[in-house]
Amino acid sequence: MRSKRKNVLAVGAHADDIEIGCGGTVALHVKNGDNVVLLIMTKPSYTRYDGVVLRSETEGVREEQNGAKVLGGKHINLGFETKKVPYSSDSVEVINQVIDENEIDMIYTHWYHDSHQDHARTTRSVISAGRYVKNILMYEPEYPAGRSYTGFHNQYYTDISSTFEKKMEALKQHKSQVDKYGEGFLDAVGARAKHRGYEVQCNYAECFEVLRLLGDL
Ligand SMILES: [Zn+2]
Repeated sequence: MRSKRKNVLAVGAHADDIEIGCGGTVALHVKNGDNVVLLIMTKPSYTRYDGVVLRSETEGVREEQNGAKVLGGKHINLGFETKKVPYSSDSVEVINQVIDENEIDMIYTHWYHDSHQDHARTTRSVISAGRYVKNILMYEPEYPAGRSYTGFHNQYYTDISSTFEKKMEALKQHKSQVDKYGEGFLDAVGARAKHRGYEVQCNYAECFEVLRLLGDL
């Protein structure tokens, strides 16, 4: 039996990262009565290198809020500029403050070797800020970016069969991203959960690489 409510922090550089990487697990924590904080590092608007707007501020704010509402928990946006998340005292200290204020004992963040600079710097900042946090798990490299020179270690699984629909419903709130990447994007996220589920003999699962995990014997 679980002894006490966990204080969980899920971190994503961008608005839809949490949904893709650990949305089912976050929804499971909410369902179990844990205190959950969703922390997004960047402002939701962003442009392409040539200035074309890929997501407007209004559209982005709405999508981010809707996605967070589906998952549940408290939602914080730190407002760094997209593609320019720092790994410096600016990012470390503000994450540190969120950890302290919410007495966080469990963190989900990007994979350390993710190829997107925002994802990588977010996790470096989380590792520095979370030096006293007992449990830190890194979710899989993101679609469609995230492939790297080395491989993700599938070390820790959560059975998200009961919250898979919620994960997908939350992800669908990010309409601009679904439009940008196409229906295949949703299929790929769903197929990955199915694949990870098969590996541990359940319907759907999310998978993590362990940075630190306190045993509970
Ligand atoms: Zn991202």
